[in-house]
Amino acid sequence: MTGALYDAFARQIRYLRVSITDRCNLRCIYCMPEEGIPLMRHEDILRFEEIRRLVEIAIGLGITRVRLTGGEPLARRGVVELVRMLAALPGLEDLALTTNGTLLAPLAEDLARAGLRRVNISLDTLRPERYRAITRRGELSDALAGIEAAQRAGLDPIKINMVVMRAINDDEVTDLARLSLERGWHVRFIEYMPLGREPALARERFVSMQEVRARLEETLGPLEPAHVEGSGPARTWRLAGAPPMAGTIGFISALSEHFCATCNRLRLSADGRLFPCLFSDVELDVRTPLRRGADDEALRQVFRQAVAAKGPGHQLDRYVTTTSHTMSRIGG
Ligand code: SAM
Ligand code: SF4
Repeated sequence: MTGALYDAFARQIRYLRVSITDRCNLRCIYCMPEEGIPLMRHEDILRFEEIRRLVEIAIGLGITRVRLTGGEPLARRGVVELVRMLAALPGLEDLALTTNGTLLAPLAEDLARAGLRRVNISLDTLRPERYRAITRRGELSDALAGIEAAQRAGLDPIKINMVVMRAINDDEVTDLARLSLERGWHVRFIEYMPLGREPALARERFVSMQEVRARLEETLGPLEPAHVEGSGPARTWRLAGAPPMAGTIGFISALSEHFCATCNRLRLSADGRLFPCLFSDVELDVRTPLRRGADDEALRQVFRQAVAAKGPGHQLDRYVTTTSHTMSRIGG
């Protein structure tokens, strides 16, 4: 290892989220406008070999876990090959992927064989009509088929992410939580974050994790602390008395509680920028030096600068969203 990445607050950065495309086959209402977003130019997107080199540099700096995301990472052609290239890097302990699941069924087996360890799948509803309305163009049956294929392929644990929105899907939190018991899935509820073009929608639809938790305890009984491999800012719980095979329940609250104190991550966008935080104006261009033939030390320096720019916590109350700050661009 060529040094470790510590930020100014003594947090060691071990986790890199890599967005491999800004494109997506869906248009979730909380993430993208109906017409999509202005897309990155093809030549600006990092090629597989470039991603591999940057991940290798990051591993040399103490990164041990990488998550591929997007946009929709499975919409990028050749993703299985990319997984194979990254999984072969010595020192990488965990390679995971976040997906909407709709393209996963035919790929799950190949991804697992290529070295992918696990997947997080976004699933905001169990009702087909609602799924179509929230994603604007997706089919629930495709996402469910993706989850089943992932399970069959041995991608484990299966984590399900649900963004909770008032009067859109908040009446389903109990149904989703029940799946942790019935299917062994790890179900994580996510607070709606004011990213992208519709911060007003986020304010109107926001449901706090305290409220979700209270609702679950009312309907399903008390929760007790649990642990699940690779859990980040989700606080992890299980239903009291749940059988040992049951999955867990997590709450990811970016807004109502600060999880920044333990943040150990860095983001790399599909066009080769390092973002210290989702809610930060700081971005560091690592693609230009990479393409100009920079040596490893020069690239490590860009990573160090990005980490040095990590603040103590986000200041969302002062943060103004811009169209460029969408999850699909920076990588959720
Ligand atoms: N397309 C993949 C998917 O949907 O899982 C990966 C990228 S997506 C941007 C990653 C995660 O960000 C998803 O779980 C999605 O629900 C979440 N997300 C996107 N916009 C969000 C928002 N405004 N608030 C909270 N979560 C959001
Ligand atoms: Fe696409 Fe994921 Fe954003 Fe939905 S949340 S529009 S699936 S990138």
